[in-house]
Amino acid sequence: MIKQATIVGSGLAGPLLSIFLAKKYNISVSMYERNSDIRKATSYSGRSINLALSERGINALKHAGVYDSNLRRSLIPMYGRMIHDNEGNQSFQPYGTKKSHFINSVSRSEINKILITKAESTKKVKINFSKKCTNIDFKTNNLFINKQKKAYEGPVFGADGYRSSISKKIANKLIYKDIKHGYKELTIKSKNNDFRIDPNALHIWPRKDMMIIALPNNDRTFTCTLFMRKHGENSFETLQNKSQIFDFFNKNFTDIIDLIPNIDKYIANNPLGNLISLDARNWSYKDKACLIGDSAHAIVPFYGQGMNASFEDCIKICNIIDENKDWESVFNIFSKSRKIETDAISDLALKNYNTMKKDVLDKIYLEKYKLGFQLYGMFPNYFIPEYIMVSFTNIPYNKVKERSDIQDKILDTILSYEKPPKREVLETIIKENLSYMNDEKNC
Ligand SMILES: Cc1cc2nc3c(=O)[nH]c(=O)nc-3n(C[C@H](O)[C@H](O)[C@H](O)COP(=O)(O)OP(=O)(O)OC[C@H]3O[C@@H](n4cnc5c(N)ncnc54)[C@H](O)[C@@H]3O)c2cc1C
Repeated sequence: MIKQATIVGSGLAGPLLSIFLAKKYNISVSMYERNSDIRKATSYSGRSINLALSERGINALKHAGVYDSNLRRSLIPMYGRMIHDNEGNQSFQPYGTKKSHFINSVSRSEINKILITKAESTKKVKINFSKKCTNIDFKTNNLFINKQKKAYEGPVFGADGYRSSISKKIANKLIYKDIKHGYKELTIKSKNNDFRIDPNALHIWPRKDMMIIALPNNDRTFTCTLFMRKHGENSFETLQNKSQIFDFFNKNFTDIIDLIPNIDKYIANNPLGNLISLDARNWSYKDKACLIGDSAHAIVPFYGQGMNASFEDCIKICNIIDENKDWESVFNIFSKSRKIETDAISDLALKNYNTMKKDVLDKIYLEKYKLGFQLYGMFPNYFIPEYIMVSFTNIPYNKVKERSDIQDKILDTILSYEKPPKREVLETIIKENLSYMNDEKNC
């Protein structure tokens, strides 16, 4: 294999991949990033201010030697969802049953800075900032960077996010599924230098057709995200002036006004983000280029898995490089096998929007959630609740989806009994339908 590669995009997937290529395979990497160096910037204009990091992402960061005390210090554990109803009551729904069952709030800019610094410290990665790629010419092996031709050697990885310049050239067909809902970010400031609400939970204000979520930051603020329709009833387009904004929040999110008194400023000034799932039919071109991260499989953010999946891509492609000698085989195997997995998390993420904005208030859902934990306690290697499989194991996403569908039917069956069935009956139902599975960090 040629000991040279190019990566377009130094967001999250790009620098992590460069660390693997440099450290594991001794490959020199040239990276092109359209933005200036975030370590020198005073403000950040990324896609969200903070993110939930969980097992898949952590596993990849550990393998790359990035999950050190510096990174761990920047994480805030969240052990479950704190549900805020419209009367201002709060109720806690744990994510799992073990001490290790928590996700982590992390600042996007912080993790980005850590990754690019680690990438540069390998001495084999050169990041070229303020260099926007607009095209790639496979015949002459040139990239178009800031409108100038730049020759490349070795494979090119498109890690330039959901509007990737490389994917336009190789994807064959790009299908952007816009769910017609958008998002805006709001901030709950700290009070007396302390958090206003519990920092060890992911807060949700579920309102059936919309919701607000809040994740803690290290400066004791919370970044909240309002998700709702872009047009129509209860939509962003109805929030045009101060009185409309306050009427809307008074009616739907009463306690939020107390936490964010100047909410009208955020709504008026912050950009409206789109919620997109990307289905790129083709991820690679011969031995020349391959997509990774959001450029291949952007998903809606409701399972907190986009970054985690992008980091997991790096592990998956390394496993394939270890077994194959040429890039064309690596790219073909990666695209085919990984797309099956990322299509599954794309579906699960869409489904989880309903869970978060609606089901978490539903009695039957909560009964099933509780029963799921009980069955997990009784048969931990057979029945593993979906959230646990997604966030706390490395079970491939497509297997998670398959098992979760079966488990959902099992829960319905058990709940249809008049009296709770005996353990032997439960064991028969479960073991007849589900194969043995390691619930631990299963690669
Ligand atoms: C509101 C929201 C909340 C989210 N929350 C979570 C969460 O909690 N957990 C989670 O796991 N995921 C979450 N995600 C998803 C996560 O942000 C993405 O999956 C992740 O950023 C993908 O990483 P990436 O490196 O592929 O792309 P990006 O992070 O988008 O990075 C792409 C990089 O390429 C650069 N670039 C773009 N175009 C060009 C070009 N033409 N030339 C050169 N450089 C270019 C960009 O500047 C950027 O630096 C969330 C997303 C959103 C929108």
